[in-house]
Amino acid sequence: MSYNSGHLVNNMIKIQRTPCPIKLTEEVKLNLTQEYETTGKNVWNKEYIKVALFKMSNGKCIFCECKLNEESKYMEVEHFYPKHEYPLEVVDWNNLLPICKRCNVNKGGHDTKKEPIINPTIDDPKKHLHMSNYRYIGKDRLGKDTIDLLCLNEFDQLIAPRVQIGNQVLVIIEKIHSDLLKLGELEEASGMEIRKIINRLRNLLNSCLPDKVYSTTCSYALLTDTHYNEIKNILTRAKKWDDSLDGIEISVFEHSLINKFEAHGAVSSL
Ligand SMILES: [Zn+2]
Repeated sequence: MSYNSGHLVNNMIKIQRTPCPIKLTEEVKLNLTQEYETTGKNVWNKEYIKVALFKMSNGKCIFCECKLNEESKYMEVEHFYPKHEYPLEVVDWNNLLPICKRCNVNKGGHDTKKEPIINPTIDDPKKHLHMSNYRYIGKDRLGKDTIDLLCLNEFDQLIAPRVQIGNQVLVIIEKIHSDLLKLGELEEASGMEIRKIINRLRNLLNSCLPDKVYSTTCSYALLTDTHYNEIKNILTRAKKWDDSLDGIEISVFEHSLINKFEAHGAVSSL
């Protein structure tokens, strides 16, 4: 398999569950659960719960990574185990996830205890998913069921934005690459021109960090690109690849969930 067709990457990132909001005490949980059981009201729809969930995922849908609370993608509180079947978990902090309307509608009242899907706060998505040409591919039953239930390869709302964002990253990296080559031997080049290129590269790496929208798509595009690898090699040979770039790249790698051997178009066979 050539590197062009071997752009495999894991997407949907593992989310570390943050501590339960202080206001959601055992007593409050008990009262809200009783209220839900007797009235069926939206007892989970509290500002302190929504703010905590929003922060937990850096303002992104836990499943599709779209940016929440903009372009009419308002955050909804998702019950991983559906509230109708499992009312005692209606305000159980470990059962709540930040989700977009699209994913919430697709998931509906699906019973995830009987037929599980990936829970990114429990399961490591990279074990079950990878990406090829901006499409999710299931590595196993759990991955496949998650993709199919949530329609994670829907073209208009998911694949098209991924391709667009990935392409923007590639356009920027190609320009940085060509500007770097124009400088010729870096030992003889202007220090300011080199610095400008390093700053552009750092900005690009920053845009792939996990708090950015579609960060796994951006890091997928960047880290599997041969231009990026060449830029890094040129700067490293000239001793211009500095600690700041290294630190950000480590963080991008960690959160991209790309395996090192998959990076820089280095995939020869999988
Ligand atoms: Zn979503």
